[in-house]
Amino acid sequence: MFELHDAQPRAADQLLKPMGGLLSECTPGVREILELALSGEEVSRKQGEALFRCSPRELSAVMRAADTVRKQRSGDEVSFVVVRNINFTNVCYMGCRFCGFAKRKEDAEAQWISMEEVAHRAQVAWDRGATEVCMQGGLHPDLPPTYYRDLVLAVKKQVPNMHVHAFSPFEVWFGAHKRKMPTKEFLLELKDAGLGSMPGTAAEILDIEVRKQLTRNKLTTEAWVDTIRTAHEVGLRSTSTIMYGHVDGPSHWAAHIDLLRSIQKDTGGFTEFVPLGFVHSESPLYVEKAIPGVRAGATMEEHIKMHSIARLMLARWIDNIQVSWVKLGAQRAGDLLHAGVNDLGGTLMDESISRSAGADFGEELTSTEMVRLIRYAGRRPVRRNTLYERLEDFDDHEPVDLGTLKPRSHDPIQFVRSVTGSRVVP
Ligand code: SF4
Repeated sequence: MFELHDAQPRAADQLLKPMGGLLSECTPGVREILELALSGEEVSRKQGEALFRCSPRELSAVMRAADTVRKQRSGDEVSFVVVRNINFTNVCYMGCRFCGFAKRKEDAEAQWISMEEVAHRAQVAWDRGATEVCMQGGLHPDLPPTYYRDLVLAVKKQVPNMHVHAFSPFEVWFGAHKRKMPTKEFLLELKDAGLGSMPGTAAEILDIEVRKQLTRNKLTTEAWVDTIRTAHEVGLRSTSTIMYGHVDGPSHWAAHIDLLRSIQKDTGGFTEFVPLGFVHSESPLYVEKAIPGVRAGATMEEHIKMHSIARLMLARWIDNIQVSWVKLGAQRAGDLLHAGVNDLGGTLMDESISRSAGADFGEELTSTEMVRLIRYAGRRPVRRNTLYERLEDFDDHEPVDLGTLKPRSHDPIQFVRSVTGSRVVP
């Protein structure tokens, strides 16, 4: 459906060279999986799970392998997009247990901003250099049946060239029910109105048992997959995501990535994969201990694994691996550029969903800060649009200083030690 590009095959010894002596630190099983990944073979779900279960001692090798495959598939550039997030309402009654964003209509913090205000914000964003607005909101029970279409029309009328990236599969599912239309017809209506692409959010973990615990399974795995496949079918590309670090584990992570890969093999519609670490501090799931055993988010080791192993499992199929600075903060996001990542996502301008769940990493990272962060990792910054077309490089610009960032080693052993503590033995 969408075209995928293949890279030139390279000799195995060329690909193994950057590993130095790291493979000798691995058990034969992990070593074998990393060698096959480095030689361009596909990492299966079971092998992915084995990598997620690798020991701290093996983590440096997993990370270096991911960095090597990243270099082969995506080069040394790191991209970002200038985008404004517009969360048009926070009213929602779906009751997802992890959600700290949703409010009831009568709550003091309840918000539903007017279409005029949404269009105005899009205009301001355009004037500041944004090429995309990303619009998502709660599933407000009072939304009129044509609300989503009208919202897109309002933005496109105000700023015709703005790329509208909007509506999660959950919102599409809700909107199609409101509009009393089959999903395909509903998506075609949105596309005709000017919708450019969709966020592949609301995926959480695509596993029945985990979804029952997190979201009461209102949007089932089948419904999420069906909505995304239909979007790709009608020509709307989407991102793909995972939310990890709560009641989930290695088997769920590997199966989730494997499922996304199988969709991509059929449709080619995913632009990128974005791991979203669970932000626990204001989340009812954690604060109210709604599920026994719920964790306070992923560890740094798990963040490294998620980005690295996603790169290894998705190689050739989804070659843009994004790190979310909103969830992790700029410093850690910069660190993870060494773990298979080639994209820093959006500047955002104002974001409220993660902040509502307790993330405290601000509302915006400017283009200058993005460039600084990328250079700090020793890579080349590129500004892109939503669909990964290159818009600007910064080769002629003066280098910028590191600001408050603390320089860290690019050596995988030193790196893993510095960000996870001394538990990782070289
Ligand atoms: S995650 Fe989305 S659908 Fe679920 S309660 Fe929050 S706003 Fe509503």
